[in-house]
Amino acid sequence: MIVANWKMNGSKASIDDWINTVSKCIKPNPEVPCVFCPPSLYIDFSRKLIDDLSSEIKLGSQLVNAEDGTALTGGVNSSMLRDFSTDYVLIGHSEQRTFFNEQANQTFNKIQNSIDAGLSIIFCIGEPLDIQKENGTNDFLVTQLEILKGLNLDNVTIAYEPLWAIGTGLNAQTAYIEETHKFIKDYCETDLGVNEDISVVYGGSVKLENAEEILSSSCVDGLLIGGASLNPDNFSNIYNLS
Ligand code: PEP
Repeated sequence: MIVANWKMNGSKASIDDWINTVSKCIKPNPEVPCVFCPPSLYIDFSRKLIDDLSSEIKLGSQLVNAEDGTALTGGVNSSMLRDFSTDYVLIGHSEQRTFFNEQANQTFNKIQNSIDAGLSIIFCIGEPLDIQKENGTNDFLVTQLEILKGLNLDNVTIAYEPLWAIGTGLNAQTAYIEETHKFIKDYCETDLGVNEDISVVYGGSVKLENAEEILSSSCVDGLLIGGASLNPDNFSNIYNLS
């Protein structure tokens, strides 16, 4: 899976250009979904463009709110995303955890609601720099992964995104990515009871220059790309490496 996370960027014109260009330039591989996550406001606009072009691009939301029965002005729930034929949803992104103070119980509710609505989930985890420096990465990741206990993980992909690599230009080294992805896969198998190998994608300062090396590393099943996904030619070239 190769995912474009546009964050709070874009306009109708730039999304139109991106979807048209990427649809033309990628060589679609049915085993490698090409997922576009625009800002929520552009979900319907993007869906129509994708459908009009019969494009292979899959649509993902950057946002879903947890439903716990309370009123939520400005909220978007998982059924609304399905109503607009959204295929994927990003949950647990560090920017949601940090800037919206998302807590583990909310992350859990978002995942549970999204599974129930039939969405595929891209569950983002990753450690901050101080934890990485004191060799605490694996223990920290366990605290994020353990909320998945008891859930059906058939439609869940894990996105490993070390916080110190997001938007910094400093991607993690491939040996570190391999070791961490292996740890995540082993934990999912032994502690979460996942029979099939769970898909684990890497995110954090991926660009055309480092994508091939990261993609060819063991235990890497794809990429989650922020800044470098905004340019459609760049993104298509990265997709075509997969
Ligand atoms: C992200 O925010 O998910 C991300 C990976 O960003 P960037 O590629 O810009 O580091």
